[in-house]
Amino acid sequence: MKEVILAQVLEARERRAMIQTRLIEKNNLPIISFSMNIPGPVKTSPLIMRAFKHGLDRLIEECEKEGIRLVDRIDIDEVTGPELISSVRSDANDIKKICIKIEEESKLGRLFDMDIIDTDNSKLERGIERSCIVCGKEGRYCSSRRVHTVSELQNAVRNVMVSFFVHEDKKRVSELASLALLKELDTTPKPGLVDRNNNGSHKDMDPSTFEKSIRSLSSYWEESFVLGSETAALSPEETFIKLRPLGIEAEQRMYEATGNVNTHKGAIFLLGTIAAAMGRLYDGVSIPNDIERIITECVAMSTSSLQADFSSMSGKTAGERLYLQYGLTGARGELLSGFESVIKHSLPALKRALSEGLDRNLAQDIALLELVALKNDTNMVSRGGIVLAREAGDRARALIDEDSVTIESVKKLDEYFIEHNLSPGGSADLLAVTIFLDSLETEE
Ligand SMILES: [Zn+2]
Repeated sequence: MKEVILAQVLEARERRAMIQTRLIEKNNLPIISFSMNIPGPVKTSPLIMRAFKHGLDRLIEECEKEGIRLVDRIDIDEVTGPELISSVRSDANDIKKICIKIEEESKLGRLFDMDIIDTDNSKLERGIERSCIVCGKEGRYCSSRRVHTVSELQNAVRNVMVSFFVHEDKKRVSELASLALLKELDTTPKPGLVDRNNNGSHKDMDPSTFEKSIRSLSSYWEESFVLGSETAALSPEETFIKLRPLGIEAEQRMYEATGNVNTHKGAIFLLGTIAAAMGRLYDGVSIPNDIERIITECVAMSTSSLQADFSSMSGKTAGERLYLQYGLTGARGELLSGFESVIKHSLPALKRALSEGLDRNLAQDIALLELVALKNDTNMVSRGGIVLAREAGDRARALIDEDSVTIESVKKLDEYFIEHNLSPGGSADLLAVTIFLDSLETEE
């Protein structure tokens, strides 16, 4: 980040005044001069540019509504910060009203300096004093007495921008999570699972059950991402603790939508943690897509809670018995390991298959079989017992090793799974995670 020195600020101010005078002489119209109100020596960054662009879009939108046109518009993008200077075909008071409206209504408005200079070179006064961005005190009390440090002011400004844009970018996170779950559902055939051919080994669900569930969860991905961003200043563990009640609410919504069928409990837990980790890493400019950093954050968030879970297991639930008997750790173990099954197995397999030119459906099938072949899926064991679950895993392994994963061979495997009432639900959740992480790097 480049810092400006006083001379540059003064130079920019002089240049602005010169442009204003020249435009007034040329057009005999009022001038709008829009710049950002940024404390400290760093006046521009991708985040500041995004906020400025948002203000500009709002300004142009409001002007268009009123039939007001900008004439001889000059856009400045210098180290001293972004600026717009333009003549305005409007009465000075009318355009000033628009500017005050934007400054007051937009959550970023506090950072906008939208000045209007009339044709006699006088600046229109705002009328209302602005409050302090750090403590909210009215008027210029804090700024004239330098009550707050520069870094306090910079933090406050950054927070205003990040907490504004997180509500724009949360939609993208939710979209990608929903898309990953849909692509997982659409992958056909899948052994024992609900797909577009059949309901696998399940009597109580079909594709529409999953579609309803996916719709019911779209707000949860947004909430998790926003929570992560809003708690980024706290410890990672605290974010994870605050995420749990949101996850429980999401499960309730899922059960309501599906008529009490568990379609995505594992996905709620895993993708919810990932979305919250992304929120913690969010910089206000774009959604994080560095998989390694995201996974590291997930582990930092969850390790102490999950270790406590495992050490207090007594064998009361089916999942606890599988852990105590076979060391199977399910979704929690996967998270604790830093998504080892995904990072080491299914994600590389998916990427490899796609780069070899296989179609996406078959590539996703290969990624799923990689997961089933790891033989750590608790759903497989709880439905079919450990012996059958291991044998089924070996069958998946054999197809991969022989490089003979085709629609036909997976269909046969599907029949075998259905015959033995097997269903790799845990692997399906991890396939969705795999698709989601891949989409962070590849989706536009
Ligand atoms: Zn203050």
